[in-house]
Amino acid sequence: MKAVPQDILEDLGAQIILGNTYHLYLRPGHELVRKMGGLHKFMSWERALLTDSGGFQVFSLSELRKVKEEGVSFRSHLDGTSHLFTPERSMEIQIALGADIVMAFDECMEHPAERERARASMEMTLRWAKRSKDYFEAHKHECPWAITSSENQTHNHRGHEGTQRESASDTVHPTAAVLHDSMPESIKTPALFGIVQGGMYADLRRESAERTVELDFPGYAIGGLSVGESRAKTMDMIAAVLEILPKDKPRYVMGVGYPEEIVQYAAMGVDMMDCVLPTRAARHGLLFTSEGRINIKNARFAQDQGPADPKCACRVCSRYTRAYLRHLFVSAEPLAGVLNTVHNLAFYLDTMRSVRHAITLGDLSGILSGSVSFT
Ligand SMILES: [Zn+2]
Repeated sequence: MKAVPQDILEDLGAQIILGNTYHLYLRPGHELVRKMGGLHKFMSWERALLTDSGGFQVFSLSELRKVKEEGVSFRSHLDGTSHLFTPERSMEIQIALGADIVMAFDECMEHPAERERARASMEMTLRWAKRSKDYFEAHKHECPWAITSSENQTHNHRGHEGTQRESASDTVHPTAAVLHDSMPESIKTPALFGIVQGGMYADLRRESAERTVELDFPGYAIGGLSVGESRAKTMDMIAAVLEILPKDKPRYVMGVGYPEEIVQYAAMGVDMMDCVLPTRAARHGLLFTSEGRINIKNARFAQDQGPADPKCACRVCSRYTRAYLRHLFVSAEPLAGVLNTVHNLAFYLDTMRSVRHAITLGDLSGILSGSVSFT
């Protein structure tokens, strides 16, 4: 998470964050993270962590990448060194990082793509899903915090060695989950999610979903969306896949979206989403508010005494004026990125709290009609 300390994320109510496998593999390296006790301990985050497969960043950031049946070879965007990501290598790296949710290695296809290209890519993603699962099942106990039945029942979830050492850095956060032998096997080791692909073709999407479900994962993601297609197309693809994916397993749409989008997808039956939008937009001075999206650098905010969002109760809105946030931003003060990010995260997390509340009440119509359109 750029620009926001972990304790503020906890105060905001963030339950899970995402680690980028590609970036962590290149720097500081997954073996270093493993030696530090895994990503939870390394970054002092006791709540849930998900890592992506590394594939998306390889396709979007690296140079001279070449896709073969074996995997994807590429050059680092940092120093030009050559690397190879395979399904097995992606699992090895993610297990070393020690996320709670590990993603299968899939091909992130270009958009737009012809039907035959989309089918071939979908078929390879299915073969890679099988290879991912085979490697994962054989090695998931090597995760830094994995609990095997022979270990002490009171050991802490996050790297049990830490509970026996005295240094300040090993202080166990009060939210740390303590797992016991009586708990199901599935929460003593990471969970591997499969990924549905198939481009912008509903029948390929459905076939991908059916065959991914046959491989039997504890959760399923829908990848390759929000890559430049229309919002209507994104919704069509999600709807087609949701017909197939089991309702009693987490269903995760990767890489979305605007606040009103995540409300719509949640109403359709999506359980999880991830996006750089709230944090990246914040660093560019774009704030999501109950009145729509505002650009804080705009001159009209120069003497605005109001908060970023009059309906937001976050620590930024209850303390700072738009005038001050604008001053920080136009002066390129690092605090601008921090405060803008904290507010945007508060707005997104409030949005999802409203969605969960509406689901509990059994009525999403209010939140759907009341959601602000930003595009
Ligand atoms: Zn706020």
